[in-house]
Amino acid sequence: MASDRLAVPHAPISKYGTARSDPQELLLDNLRISSTFPKFLPAAKPRVAYLKFSGVTVGASSACKPWTELMRKSTTEEKEALLPTTPQTVPHTPRFSRKAQRRIFIAGLLSCLTLGVVYGHLGFYFDGVLDSNVATGCPQVDALVPQRGADVLASISDLLATSDYKAKAINWLSGAVQVPTEVFDAMPPVGQDPRWEVFAPFHDYLLTAFPLVNTYGLLFEWTGSDKSLKPILLAAHQDVVPVEPKTYEEWTHPPYSGHFDGELIWGRGSSDDKSGLIGIMTTIETMIAQGFKPTRTVVLAFGFDEEASGLQGAGELGATMRSTYGEDLPFAFIVDEGGGFTDKYGSVFASPSVAEKGYLDVHVEVTSPGGHSSVPPVHTTIGMLAALVVKYENNPYELELSRDSIPYALLQCQAAHGAEMPKKLKHLIRRSTRSKKALAKLRDVVIEDRPFRSLIGTTQAVDIVQGGVKSNALPEQAYALVNHRISTQSSVAETMAHDAALLAPLAAQFNLSYTAFGKAMSLSDGPALGTLTLKDAYGTFLEPAPVSPIKGKGSEAYQLLSGTIKATYAAHRGLDLDAKDGIAVAPGMSTGNTDTRYYWKLSRSIFRYNHKNTIGSKDRLSGVHTVNEAMSADALLEMIRFFTTLILNADESSAI
Ligand SMILES: [Zn+2]
Repeated sequence: MASDRLAVPHAPISKYGTARSDPQELLLDNLRISSTFPKFLPAAKPRVAYLKFSGVTVGASSACKPWTELMRKSTTEEKEALLPTTPQTVPHTPRFSRKAQRRIFIAGLLSCLTLGVVYGHLGFYFDGVLDSNVATGCPQVDALVPQRGADVLASISDLLATSDYKAKAINWLSGAVQVPTEVFDAMPPVGQDPRWEVFAPFHDYLLTAFPLVNTYGLLFEWTGSDKSLKPILLAAHQDVVPVEPKTYEEWTHPPYSGHFDGELIWGRGSSDDKSGLIGIMTTIETMIAQGFKPTRTVVLAFGFDEEASGLQGAGELGATMRSTYGEDLPFAFIVDEGGGFTDKYGSVFASPSVAEKGYLDVHVEVTSPGGHSSVPPVHTTIGMLAALVVKYENNPYELELSRDSIPYALLQCQAAHGAEMPKKLKHLIRRSTRSKKALAKLRDVVIEDRPFRSLIGTTQAVDIVQGGVKSNALPEQAYALVNHRISTQSSVAETMAHDAALLAPLAAQFNLSYTAFGKAMSLSDGPALGTLTLKDAYGTFLEPAPVSPIKGKGSEAYQLLSGTIKATYAAHRGLDLDAKDGIAVAPGMSTGNTDTRYYWKLSRSIFRYNHKNTIGSKDRLSGVHTVNEAMSADALLEMIRFFTTLILNADESSAI
């Protein structure tokens, strides 16, 4: 029940202290009244608040009134005082409260900084280059600059350049990092597992930090004046992966400090994905403050268990949005967390992910009669399982570089814009468009790169193995778990059929009664020595995502996104819009899945991209999902510029 939560407003979030030290006890207690929004689902279900606002501070319900009145009366200073740390001049060394200081751990190794790509769990592969001389294989659109929204963009651009605003934006993200919204695998539903309660203080924080957006909830609608226009959906997630306790001492700054060192904002979630969430919230807060009123509706959806498959958060959000907006692709486009832009071969390249691989965990189980190990059979279940695992590893899935795949389109972009790409490779990529032999040769070259190889085929990884309990007892059962990421050119059914056929000869050889994915596979009806069973381990299979259109009719949203990326990149650096040292846009793809897996019916144009700057970042894996996660303040400001330009461009587009 929500009231249970209200009773413990300042319960410790973790052993590392409370979410923040609250000097504004009275105010925060009032804020909690807003948690009684009538549209909240009962606590036994995932909490999804649905809230509409129209650009001014409004209460979503009468229950919210005490808070909104309070906020109306309070001065700007009072509102800012609600932030976990006081506004700071930039650069600065933030001061910490005593409680925060208690959370400070011994500084350890300074390892590489994360500047964006959520490579670790999204598995983005990004490898772009730029050369405008040979652009035929990867046409580029012009930068798209808002016209009607030019004044709003100009005043927000001016704001971005002020140290006051910069300090505010840094504080917004730093404060968000200081609330440890950790989620773990297979958590029982909301209401049963108290660990979900970390989101209550996080929602309170959002409420406090973004009074104009009027936050408390996970689904927001900023209602536009023209209902005939399809709304756009901006998504992010509130949760973070847990910090491995053994690594605390390796953090240069404590994982939930939100420490700003003058350049970087440190902590778990500073990049993945609180930078996305705060980037979106900050943008809208700022646009409202600037008096902008949207023509096209903007919807925000913030899940809270993306790092644990997203079922309770985005799963529920997706269902709510389908019932609210319809199932017939009601959104013009969706932008969720994902790739950024970086340098390669001396050029800069942005890579919005337009596809996601599928997913299947196969549970491979062998059983046979037990007994005393002094009288063993030739093969125990563990021995047979070992043979099955070896069979898997000796037979990887075929790697086909298909001309209509996204990785191939990425290669074409590299060749088209790759000023410093080795000539031989560029030539091979070009020839592969018409020569099968060249295509095969190209495949052999690119699969040498493991991340790229993982994009073009179905992968398999034996991740769990278990069997046996005692040294003198024959194991009656042994199993392995094989994790597949399914090629966008394949399907769950094809993957199941492949695995079933692969193991059939061994099932016969060991005389095991064989069942694969509910289907009897044994050829003979004779007595078997045991069983072999394949099944979807957790019922979490997922087809590859529909590929968002990037060419021709239906690709208008992709063109708008591309133009926005180019305009943002140029504006942030004071470059000419058609500068030669600009940015190229090429389609990317992720091997992992974001919350958008629940949003396929909401739009044909789904982009996992939030314009994170990873230029100069050698190791794009660092920080995200491991120690020393950090986000550059300048990259955060550029994200705010990106979301502003995107909303304005979408607002005045007649093409989407
Ligand atoms: Zn994420």
